[in-house]
Amino acid sequence: MKKNIGLFWLKDDFRLKKNLALIEATKNHEKVVVFYLYKKIKYDNQEAQKWWLGKSLEDFKRKLNYYNINIEIIKTDSYKSFFDKLFKKKDFSIYWNRTYEPNYLSFDKYLSKNLTLNKINFKIFKGNILNEIDVKKGDGTPFKVFTPFWRTAEKFYLEKIPQIEKKISKRKNKSSFFKEIINVQEVYPKKKWFKKFDKYWSPNEESATKELKSFISNRIESYSDARNFPSRLGTSKLSPYIKHGQIHVETIWEECAKIKKKGVNKFLAEIGWREFNHSLINFFPHMIKGNYSKKFDKFPWKKNPTFLQAWKKGLTGYPIVDAGMRELNNTGWMHNRVRMIVGSFLVKHLLINWMEGEKFFKNCLLDYNEANNISGWQWVSGCGADAAPYFRIFNPILQGEKFDKEGEYVRKWVPELKNVPNKFLHKPWELKNDNIIRLGKEYPYPIVNHEQARAKALNAFKKI
Ligand SMILES: Cc1cc2nc3c(=O)[nH]c(=O)nc-3n(C[C@H](O)[C@H](O)[C@H](O)COP(=O)(O)OP(=O)(O)OC[C@H]3O[C@@H](n4cnc5c(N)ncnc54)[C@H](O)[C@@H]3O)c2cc1C
Repeated sequence: MKKNIGLFWLKDDFRLKKNLALIEATKNHEKVVVFYLYKKIKYDNQEAQKWWLGKSLEDFKRKLNYYNINIEIIKTDSYKSFFDKLFKKKDFSIYWNRTYEPNYLSFDKYLSKNLTLNKINFKIFKGNILNEIDVKKGDGTPFKVFTPFWRTAEKFYLEKIPQIEKKISKRKNKSSFFKEIINVQEVYPKKKWFKKFDKYWSPNEESATKELKSFISNRIESYSDARNFPSRLGTSKLSPYIKHGQIHVETIWEECAKIKKKGVNKFLAEIGWREFNHSLINFFPHMIKGNYSKKFDKFPWKKNPTFLQAWKKGLTGYPIVDAGMRELNNTGWMHNRVRMIVGSFLVKHLLINWMEGEKFFKNCLLDYNEANNISGWQWVSGCGADAAPYFRIFNPILQGEKFDKEGEYVRKWVPELKNVPNKFLHKPWELKNDNIIRLGKEYPYPIVNHEQARAKALNAFKKI
């Protein structure tokens, strides 16, 4: 046991299981302090996440209390200035898990260099991923297409597991380290709309484990088909837990490997898309700030604040689009099929730059994750690697009729339309019956005409 204090830098690692850096800190030091750096400016564009973060911090604080370990929350405007000050104190060792985003990985290099120069003991561990951005083609170049990526990535991962699972042990006494710490209440968002999230989510490790077990026992077999229907609980809904590290993707893999059920491979392939997206943003970091495909730099996007606002509020007049946006605004999550529909509508029907959608999702999604959100938006827009071609334009009426045939999803989130018969539910303007719905008053007319918008989009695409 080392005599000095062991610091664990907590990021998106709100778990006891497979938290390698935290386990190592408790193995090496009797005195351990966990610290969280709350960078307010980062969270100012991620309002919904503040709610999940606050809840997770409170829960993790309670859990670590049992082990006699303190969490200290420090507010900072810059990680660099925080660490530059920390280097001056020499009486600690520090441990953390990697975050697979280019900014974090390059900051790890800065820290490693300066911690070494200052003779401070440190160790960095594998974070919440199966493969650490090290899957490449035979010729050493990164993959740009998902299927061959995942074929290689799965094999690569299987060659490396398993590791022996270690556990966190209890301390005799609690220690503290930092002076200027803040209360977790400061992390919570000020706005009231987040109060609703309590109804839908329990941000902690046990809930993540419970959700995974319930998904594997009851739903994984029908996943391949059911995942397309937003009114059904067909997917795992694990994304916010994965994002905040309340469950490690290795745990998901291991639990899936224990069973032989239909649907497992399809489900793991979706975890594979998450791996692929992390690989993409790290090998092609220019896509974080702009189009992966440079030819889209010339795309004639339109600025239209009225349309953008209608889209954000779920008032476009296209029921499946509006239902999706309202699900997002109410629950902090949106079904994957509907993410594709609303995304396509923004960039193709409204010709608004995907970055506006990306920004809005970042602010509202509880599962917001740089790799998945940026790649998801570029996939929808046609400008990403292995993306849906731009000319394939989702028809919001047909998508609604196919994936929400009985209208349960639309009626849940757009209750104004609850009495509209199924035949007209996804095109209420054809009903022409004011006794059922007064369009323009109770629910908007479509803000664009589908056929015209489609033609305009194809025309705009020709310009690049
Ligand atoms: C425009 C757009 C934006 C998106 N933004 C995000 C985001 O910010 N954060 C995020 O986690 N996902 C994002 N996705 C991907 C996907 O919609 C969500 O991961 C999924 O809906 C989460 O629900 P689930 O946990 O029930 O998924 P499940 O179907 O149960 O899948 C299990 C896990 O696999 C991963 N996964 C599933 N689908 C995808 C996918 N298409 N791409 C990458 N990983 C996937 C997620 O980690 C998910 O939790 C986005 C997709 C689109 C089209």
